[in-house]
Amino acid sequence: MTRKEFIKICSLLGIGMPLQSSLVACGDDDSSQPKFNGKVIIVGAGPGGLSAGYLLQQQGIDFEILEASSVYGGRTRINTDFADFPIPLGAEWIETDTGIFHEIVNDPSVQLDIDTVTDDPDHKFVNSSWFTFFEQYVVPSISDKIIYNTAVQAIEYSGDQVILTTHIGERVADRVIVSVPLKVLQDGDVSFSPSLPGDKQAAIDNTTVWEGFKAFFEFSDNFYGEGHAFTIAPETDGQKIYYDAALGQNTSRHILGLFVVGKPAQDFITRSGNELRDFILSELNGLFDNQATSNYIKHITQNWNNEPFIKGGYMSDHADWRQVRTLGESVADKVYFAGGAYTDGEDWVSVHTAAQSARRAVIELVG
Ligand SMILES: Cc1cc2nc3c(=O)[nH]c(=O)nc-3n(C[C@H](O)[C@H](O)[C@H](O)COP(=O)(O)OP(=O)(O)OC[C@H]3O[C@@H](n4cnc5c(N)ncnc54)[C@H](O)[C@@H]3O)c2cc1C
Repeated sequence: MTRKEFIKICSLLGIGMPLQSSLVACGDDDSSQPKFNGKVIIVGAGPGGLSAGYLLQQQGIDFEILEASSVYGGRTRINTDFADFPIPLGAEWIETDTGIFHEIVNDPSVQLDIDTVTDDPDHKFVNSSWFTFFEQYVVPSISDKIIYNTAVQAIEYSGDQVILTTHIGERVADRVIVSVPLKVLQDGDVSFSPSLPGDKQAAIDNTTVWEGFKAFFEFSDNFYGEGHAFTIAPETDGQKIYYDAALGQNTSRHILGLFVVGKPAQDFITRSGNELRDFILSELNGLFDNQATSNYIKHITQNWNNEPFIKGGYMSDHADWRQVRTLGESVADKVYFAGGAYTDGEDWVSVHTAAQSARRAVIELVG
């Protein structure tokens, strides 16, 4: 059963899928105080880790975020030099209702100023991005809790406390929230002691992570219209689309995006430099009556498989929802999981599901 089939069955059965519980911001009028008052370490500062930290901050719980790279945001990275609007090198679409922004901010007193445009069935940011959203509304209250260039290599959770080994020494906490990409766990870059339960490890090992690649080309003219969507067969192999990346933006520039995940991405992640550029131009020339090369101005590419702390695109849309649910389950009341790959099995891989899984993990953790 795919996640789409699962969601369809839920709606047929009348099972709703909003967040199950309410987490109130610290200081709100709520009589039920969290039972937990120890320290939490979050591993990874992508949308999952940032959302978890933000909610812990609202709860007044001590925490820190260890991030392997020198920046936050993970796969929401943007480029701000290429065009006159932010170019989303990873997450681009808002794959849910725009009410998700209030849900993530979790504080009705915060005024949100986010412009979006419908790109059926999703939405897109106008002159903004998922990265900008986190930068503006989530990171400011937790920025001093993020420790960069600190890759977690091992998590030891046999005792009362959790001991994390990093290349710059050990960190100790009462609970840990793991929020690294699934491929990082598949490759054993973070080891667990004791080993994770068999069903958890099997779900990690057996779930497909698609390759991930994006490119943006500026042309002197829009000869491509709305772009071109490829039919991938079987559809479990991945997705590939050329699309008008300037849609809804206040720009006169002609920017074409390429989004490709799964097996079709191998054509792109195995190439680089001029060979990669010419491969894409040649494909576009074939699709659009030889107009690509003559209109070409410049381009940028993003190969997510080459990123040392990401190592791929994202978990397949066609993963088995039961295994996804297992991926999201906590272990031994000490090790929690939050992120695009660690959900409750109802939906996965998007930024909003990463944020929602963080909420679920924090609710469970604080008790
Ligand atoms: C090409 C592409 C297009 C996408 N398009 C969309 C889209 O349009 N809409 C959408 O909603 N989603 C999209 N996504 C998916 C979305 O980006 C992810 O679901 C989301 O970023 C997952 O958040 P996360 O926090 O789980 O992981 P990430 O964003 O990957 O963050 C994980 C963080 O963990 C860090 N890390 C890794 N290893 C360690 C370690 N050992 N120690 C410490 N830190 C570590 C990484 O450096 C990273 O910062 C796209 C993804 C890709 C690749």
